[in-house]
Amino acid sequence: MGGGFAGATLAQRLERLLPAQTEVIVLSAENHLVFTPMLPEVVGRTISPLQVVVAGRQLTRRTKVVGGARQPD
Ligand SMILES: Cc1cc2nc3c(=O)[nH]c(=O)nc-3n(C[C@H](O)[C@H](O)[C@H](O)COP(=O)(O)OP(=O)(O)OC[C@H]3O[C@@H](n4cnc5c(N)ncnc54)[C@H](O)[C@@H]3O)c2cc1C
Repeated sequence: MGGGFAGATLAQRLERLLPAQTEVIVLSAENHLVFTPMLPEVVGRTISPLQVVVAGRQLTRRTKVVGGARQPD
């Protein structure tokens, strides 16, 4: 759940630990990871927003990223 730092790291570890035929799915409101520690540099215009955003498919090899927000219980 969630394609941020925690979700992406968990997906990477599950890919390593689980058999290749196991499907790993990340459900996230966004299909990209924002490298939040560098957002101040974007605001200060020393770097481009494109340099702090990574597409979900670039972070993992076989994880499927499904878009959509999970509703709170
Ligand atoms: C400006 C800034 C600077 C920072 N600098 C540092 C730093 O220098 N060092 C440091 O250690 N930390 C820093 N942090 C904190 C760090 O960014 C967070 O601790 C980290 O992003 C948390 O990771 P996360 O996976 O829990 O959440 P996030 O990275 O926020 O990811 C959450 C993901 O879940 C998704 N999501 C949320 N709700 C739902 C839902 N209902 N259904 C589906 N998907 C959902 C979101 O779309 C998002 O993709 C900084 C934060 C900010 C804002």
